[in-house]
Amino acid sequence: MSKINSYNACIYARLSRDDGDKLESDSIINQKALIRDFLSKHPEIHAVSEKTDDGYSGVNFDRPAFQEMMEDIRSGKINCVVVKDLSRFGRNYIEAGNYIERVFPFLGVRFIAINDNYDSLDRNQSDSLIIPFKNLINDAYCKDISVKIRSQLEIKRKKGQFIGAFAAYGYLKDEEDHNKLVVDTYASEIVRAIFKWKIQGMSQGRIANKLNMQGVLCPMEYKLSLGMKVQTNFRVHKKALWSSKTVTRILTNEIYTGVLVQGKVGTPNYKIKKIMPRDEADWIRVEGVIPVIIDRDMFDSVQMILAKDIRIAPEEDVVYPLSGFVKCADCGQNMVRKSYNSDGKAYSYFICSTRKAGKGCSTHSISEEKLTDVVLQMVSKQIDSVCEMEKMLDIVDSLPEKQANVFNYDAQVVRLKEEIERNKSFKLKLYENLQEGLIGQDEYFLFKKSYAAKIAEAEAAIRAIEDEREQAVSRNRDSLSWMETFKKYRSITSVNRSMVVDLIRQINVFEGGRAEVVFRHADEAEKVVKVLEDYGSQAV
Ligand SMILES: [Zn+2]
Repeated sequence: MSKINSYNACIYARLSRDDGDKLESDSIINQKALIRDFLSKHPEIHAVSEKTDDGYSGVNFDRPAFQEMMEDIRSGKINCVVVKDLSRFGRNYIEAGNYIERVFPFLGVRFIAINDNYDSLDRNQSDSLIIPFKNLINDAYCKDISVKIRSQLEIKRKKGQFIGAFAAYGYLKDEEDHNKLVVDTYASEIVRAIFKWKIQGMSQGRIANKLNMQGVLCPMEYKLSLGMKVQTNFRVHKKALWSSKTVTRILTNEIYTGVLVQGKVGTPNYKIKKIMPRDEADWIRVEGVIPVIIDRDMFDSVQMILAKDIRIAPEEDVVYPLSGFVKCADCGQNMVRKSYNSDGKAYSYFICSTRKAGKGCSTHSISEEKLTDVVLQMVSKQIDSVCEMEKMLDIVDSLPEKQANVFNYDAQVVRLKEEIERNKSFKLKLYENLQEGLIGQDEYFLFKKSYAAKIAEAEAAIRAIEDEREQAVSRNRDSLSWMETFKKYRSITSVNRSMVVDLIRQINVFEGGRAEVVFRHADEAEKVVKVLEDYGSQAV
């Protein structure tokens, strides 16, 4: 091809609904933006026309805009074609090759596929086109679907948009925005029950049985009942039931805390079809985009219980209150619960599991009764100090400086309400003024409009202030909700499972029978103590 100094180019974009392009919903715009960006760096190329085949497959070249472009080429209007990549030009690579390797050179057309780094003008490259082509033929559509659309999905994931085919059990896709999830009122109740039962000590198997006995549809059946087209290979005549696996999947799904985690698995690249787990560092986590079904605290409790792997007999509903929480202070291993009978009475005690296995640690033996007493005492003490902290915080909150803040909101609202009233009465007077001939028709409408606008403005300001105050209050409440958890057990007289799970991280047992309780939310408690100390040193 002879060298020309100036090119008249056609920007060509294509989007199809049926060959895997549909996920690139904005891709015509993207394609054109990318091409224009490229052209801005190539002053020798002038875009003289834009052709778009929206809704046409790339499998054949019988597309209206493409044919118009070919007309323009034949008539000499354009001598350059620019596309985002080869697949936008065509997916039938043999025919596309025919155009690019024979027709265009014959007609003296420069062809540029930006993302494939192909420019027919570049002589060194003219042979290299064969390589991408061969790859494309072999890979069929994979390159596009896997790499290009994948990057689109990645963007959606990062924005916190839901891109899965089905919403997690407990949620539904928003009817208006399919990248958004809303709470499924019914299923979310089941999710809450599952978490509650787990906290109470039920095994996943027991939970599954309970749900099946109550006739609750398992997630897959539920989806089918809602008319969703769930694909399943093993669908026989029998109805699918809840299993402990399904329950575990729900108990470990962080989505219920309002966190959207996507991209946990994926194909390493488009050549490898196998879906493999990705490193946690590569997961895409977006917080606060999904309604919360399970609060973070409860979710963490359940993860803690699951991590402790508390084994209980399947026919039992409840575990022993301290099971899984007792650790040997010296070797860090779990203590195991043992029982024996003496004089017709059952006694239980904990011993170090390392010792039991004969691997060197000492027994650390402690009776369950004694340990339970110690735990109860320590929990009561901790609750007392939390209540004490709260009293102190109340005092801090009621100090003038804090009051001023809240008062400020109130004062602003009062002022705005006064303004609304004033403007309302002006509006009323206005009509009288008109009747009495003090103002004319035009003035009347002008003033009326301006008063109405002022009222609307003040009303909007009040709503904004109320919102802000609401948030300010709930922010405080949120960060201290753990205190409520402790206070809940204020009048407790014996150790029960839910108290242990809610309040305790672990119990360390030392040789000789001394025990220490590590509480949950210890960090937060420390922070509160710090705040109170700081405040005390400033105030005094
Ligand atoms: Zn030990």
